[in-house]
Amino acid sequence: MRSGTDPVRHLYVHVPFCAHKCDYCAFYSAPPSGDQVNRYVDAVVRELELVAPRCRPETIFFGGGTPSLLTLKQWETLLEAMRRLNLLGAREFSVECNPATVSADKAKLLRSAGVTRISMGVQSLDPSLLERLGRIHTREMVFRSLDILRGAGFDGVSIDLMFAIPGQTMDLWQRTLDEALALGTDHLSCYEVIYEEDTPLFEQLAAGEFDVDEDLACAQYDALVDRAGEAGFRQYEVANWARDVRMGAPALPKEQVEELPRFACRHNVAYWRGKDFFGCGPSASEYVDGLRSRNWANTNLYCDQLDKGRRAKEFAEALGPLARAGELAAFGLRMNAGWPFAEFKERTGFDLREEWADDLAMLEKCGWGERLEDRFRLTRLGLRFADSAAERVLRPDAKPENRLVLEPV
Ligand code: SF4
Repeated sequence: MRSGTDPVRHLYVHVPFCAHKCDYCAFYSAPPSGDQVNRYVDAVVRELELVAPRCRPETIFFGGGTPSLLTLKQWETLLEAMRRLNLLGAREFSVECNPATVSADKAKLLRSAGVTRISMGVQSLDPSLLERLGRIHTREMVFRSLDILRGAGFDGVSIDLMFAIPGQTMDLWQRTLDEALALGTDHLSCYEVIYEEDTPLFEQLAAGEFDVDEDLACAQYDALVDRAGEAGFRQYEVANWARDVRMGAPALPKEQVEELPRFACRHNVAYWRGKDFFGCGPSASEYVDGLRSRNWANTNLYCDQLDKGRRAKEFAEALGPLARAGELAAFGLRMNAGWPFAEFKERTGFDLREEWADDLAMLEKCGWGERLEDRFRLTRLGLRFADSAAERVLRPDAKPENRLVLEPV
């Protein structure tokens, strides 16, 4: 476990701009207005200056929003600041891209600054479903972007897909899946559409414009698990798959196969294993030294605070030890590897087999979980219902006074 004097090894930066809001999206992002993006870039640089003395990142993740919406000049400013602050050189550096905003000069700049992975929000390769989701890109843009990224030297590309989209038949899902798996990328994230309040999709559902077909969603997830496995991907979390070798290369000898696939996203694994991370940018969360906090989800307010030389925290809270352990139990069980008992004890101070004995027994009884000699993990069926399994192992804190709401100055 990290001691208070060790540097924090993981850094997230949120870019809160999107050209157009997708119909299902509840992330904090908005179309940029006026000079707001330049002001944001200056503010993020200031926030990075504040965290840099305590941060030596092994993984960096720029998410959003649409980080690829930043111009070449804005990226140069950010990367130059990171160089000056000794924040570059991470083993893994990911940037999320929208296929409509990838360009050769930006791709080259990112690659030359040490970005190792691009995570591309594809969601579907079916034109009518892309339109249904309110996406701004076309399927042709996906292929073109991949060519550009590979031309710039990116071998590490991940694509995001969605299933259970209204109107997405099993046949349409399988066609997208097969095409996506044949693209030769080394990482795949697949999410079931969820209906978040205050999104157009939620309102359409509430107005009865379509029904949710849970059985179809389950069948689509099953098809995903089967097909990704057949195509050489290994699942390592409920929604994430990665290869051990590039497509077409000979398989790794058995003794070299590790618990995590070689091209797994180490940054996300750090979240699921409860590592400390800094979060910069509007709405970004962070967890450092037992304190969880979040920045204001308001770009102007965020910039105002950084102008005054302070971080833009909306709240900070210290969870009690059992509440934090319950949260980690829930996160870690999302991974196929589950929780090794020894690692869980080392990270939280609690023994999963004792504090959660009844929950583990119940999960085993309904076929959602299995106990191995050294760990507990969810089964294939359990992973499908990981959110419900997670609810079972949470231990919410009974002390809300641990939460400190911070007023902007
Ligand atoms: S591009 Fe991503 S972050 Fe932006 S609106 Fe769409 S889903 Fe949300």
